[in-house]
Amino acid sequence: MRKKLVAGNWKMHGSRVMADALVGEIVENLPGGVEVVVFPPDVYLAGLSDRYGDRGLGFGAQDLSEHHALGAYTGEIAGEMLRDVGADWVLVGHSERRQYQRETDDLLAKKFDAARTAGLKPILCVGETLEEHEDGRAEEVIGHQIGVVIDCCGIESFRDAVIAYEPVWAIGTGLTATPEKAQKIHAAIRSQLAKKDANISLLTRVLYGGSVKPANAAELFAQPDVDGGLIGGASLVASDFLDICAAAR
Ligand code: 13P
Repeated sequence: MRKKLVAGNWKMHGSRVMADALVGEIVENLPGGVEVVVFPPDVYLAGLSDRYGDRGLGFGAQDLSEHHALGAYTGEIAGEMLRDVGADWVLVGHSERRQYQRETDDLLAKKFDAARTAGLKPILCVGETLEEHEDGRAEEVIGHQIGVVIDCCGIESFRDAVIAYEPVWAIGTGLTATPEKAQKIHAAIRSQLAKKDANISLLTRVLYGGSVKPANAAELFAQPDVDGGLIGGASLVASDFLDICAAAR
């Protein structure tokens, strides 16, 4: 019922030449039966979507402004601008933005809302830090991160949204949550949604992120509540990313 989704978050990597080569190779070899989206840096979005926008690959941005209307916000990029250059998706609340840009749950709820207003599908990223993990507080922390967005934007706003569970201690470290641990958290996320709306909880895709590689993707994606992955490092190598996409079929 939920089509698997594999999303490649390039973070602050790439160049015009690299971006073109990587996307060119991905679109030539896209497996069927899985939805695939890449999130390049904003500056490459327009060129990539002009060139490859009709090849079955989706495009998204890694962040957006919380402001709904265009205006005097130096350095910000509005959701409608991202739409204008070919993005259909946007990440909201990646842990690197929570950490380095000090983005709070309240700000992220505004960004989630701004994404939806602009017609972008948000991928809300949640996850516990190593300390929270060791204290056994993962479910509490994630429940709070999602709860703030539900309270602010309403459960209906999750209808086209995706949630990505990315344990902070697993990002870029080579450590991965075991498939069982990922499944437990994903099931908890789904039951949190179900308390508000059973139908939305069944439809909402919950991705796993954090050191997903070709070698571990299949067993993670085989879990009943893991609906695909949000891939960092391995999304920068076409063959690895394509292997991960194939593992999601
Ligand atoms: P890695 O796959 O490099 O661990 O990154 C995960 C991530 O942060 C994706 O958003």
